[in-house]
Amino acid sequence: MTPSLSIPPLTKDLARVLIDADTISRRVDELAQKINHDYKDITEPLMLVGVLKGSFIFLADLCRRLTVPHVVDFIAISSYGHKGDKRGEVRMLMDTRENLSDHHVLIVEDILDSGNTLSYLIKTFKARNTKSVSTAVFLDKPARHEVPVEIEYMGFEIPDVWVVGYGLDYKEQYRTLPYIAEMYPKK
Ligand code: 5GP
Ligand code: MG
Repeated sequence: MTPSLSIPPLTKDLARVLIDADTISRRVDELAQKINHDYKDITEPLMLVGVLKGSFIFLADLCRRLTVPHVVDFIAISSYGHKGDKRGEVRMLMDTRENLSDHHVLIVEDILDSGNTLSYLIKTFKARNTKSVSTAVFLDKPARHEVPVEIEYMGFEIPDVWVVGYGLDYKEQYRTLPYIAEMYPKK
């Protein structure tokens, strides 16, 4: 890859580009087309609910390709126990501003790892008299799943490595890289 102003070069922490910006753009197009098709008959706007912070770039790209009526909202969650022995525990730090009842909801998330976050959110939103709850997830690490989660719109499967870019961070860094890069394992 040739570094340029528009494509930031890899820093010393980053091992390689896993998914480049053009490939990302084509895949987001495909996902948006599928969403446009699946929700073409809805009678009220589709509620996009982005999970902060990791989903913000995926959500921004996805929603600008939607032709179905939609509104955008956000939640913030905190998860525990990712690396511990106990099952992951998820807590809502900030809920949606909009009332989700009687709406079709599409949760937009950066990555599916253990599945604890999404299974919690799907269960929580289904309990709110929503018309439907679906999920759009940019990345999936199948090797890490602990709980089964059904994903309607999935960007890419990746191996069990730590990735950054396109919204995803390492200690809050690298979120705005236009590609997905793999980090060197922490020593
Ligand atoms: P889950 O509840 O599925 O285990 O957690 C998913 C969350 O873990 C994601 O929303 C994300 O915040 C974090 N995560 C998992 N793998 C990665 C990764 O490779 N890179 C980054 N930046 N975050 C990750
Ligand atoms: Mg996330």
